Parts: sequence; C-alpha cells; structure tokens
Amino acid sequence: MEPRLNCEIVQDLLPNYIEGLTGESTNKSIQAHLADCENCRKALEQMTRDTQGIKGAPPKQINFMKKIKRRQWLIASVSVAIVAVLLIGAYYLFGTRDFPVPASDVKVSDVYRTNDGTVHFRVTAHVKGFVSRVSTHGNKHTEIYRIYEHRQLFSMEKESVVALPENWLSTKNANTNLEKTGIYFEGIDKNDRIVIWEKDMTVPPATAEQEEAYRKYLGK
Ligand SMILES: [Zn+2]
Repeated sequence: MEPRLNCEIVQDLLPNYIEGLTGESTNKSIQAHLADCENCRKALEQMTRDTQGIKGAPPKQINFMKKIKRRQWLIASVSVAIVAVLLIGAYYLFGTRDFPVPASDVKVSDVYRTNDGTVHFRVTAHVKGFVSRVSTHGNKHTEIYRIYEHRQLFSMEKESVVALPENWLSTKNANTNLEKTGIYFEGIDKNDRIVIWEKDMTVPPATAEQEEAYRKYLGK
C-alpha cells in the first residue's frame, strides 16, 4: 500500500479514534502508523486540540455564555414587565370599571320626613356610562348613600341624566333603635359629600299623598 493512501485512511479514522469509536485492531493499525508518520501525529494533535476546544470551552468563554444567558433573561423579564405595565395602563385608561359618581354630578331632591320619622329623598346623577351599583351603608349614627357608574376613565360617551329610584331611610337604627344623626350622599371620598338630612335639620313633613306613597312602598 502507498503511504499516502494510508495517511488518508488514518486521518479519516482519526476523529472516530479520538472519540474512542474505533475497534481494537483498527486502533493498533492507527497507532503503528502514527509511530512512523509525523504528518498523521500532527493531524492527531490538531484534531485533539479542536475536539477539546469544543468539549471543554475555556472558562472565559463559559462566563461569556453565562453573561449572554443572563442578559437574555434580563431582557425577557424586562419585556414581560413592560408588557404587564402597558396592559395594566391600557386597562386603567380604557377598560370599563366602576367609578363612584362625584357629588358634583349628583342632585338630591324631594327631601321630606314621614310621620314615623323616615326620610325620603331622590337622587339624579349625571353619568358617562351606566349606573352599576347603588349602595347604602352606615354605622350606628350615619347613613351613607353612594352611586357607582360603569365606564372608562376617559369616556367619550355623552353624559346622561339618570333618576334613581326614590329612597326612604329610617332615622332610627333598626337593630339598636338609636337615633341617627345624619344621612349623606358620598361621592369620591369622605370630603365629597352632600348632606341629605341631619338631626336638627328642618325637613318638610310628607304630604298626605307622600304618606300614601310611603305606605305603598312598605306594602301596607
Ligand atoms: Zn500518515
């Protein structure tokens, strides 16, 4: 056999030889050839270096890869955070939700007192969406009436005037029988209030018709 061919075969086999994939007799032939051939020894050295370069990247390169991965993570995390903020912002600006109707958009009318000390009132409200909720809550002495409208923060809809169902609120606490001191409409916060009735306030008495309406309301 010609040495050149041998070299070619040997160098073809070297990658598998380095990986330990060649058989025992092949290894012996390769080793015998390498002992006599400087060219192939050099080729083996070169291939071994290249293989190590791939398998065991030097620490600097690993750190660099880690840095890239860390940066990718950072970019991904920041992107997720930005998207979340945008979505929340979009919801905040354009998403419909409940807003308390401010006192400035509300009118209280028809305040009078029935024979049994119940206070009657009506509320009309300017809203940009629709009235979603009316709540009356209070503590021992006060009763707070609130309205919520369902709309966007910056609504393009036209305002409409909504007349809410009339109210009769007892001035006595049903459980404790204690006299109440006030009934208030509350808008966006505690300072945004309309006094509907307070203890020493003079409120017109109900007319006979109004008393009749109240009895109907009670189902009597
Ligand atoms: Zn050779």
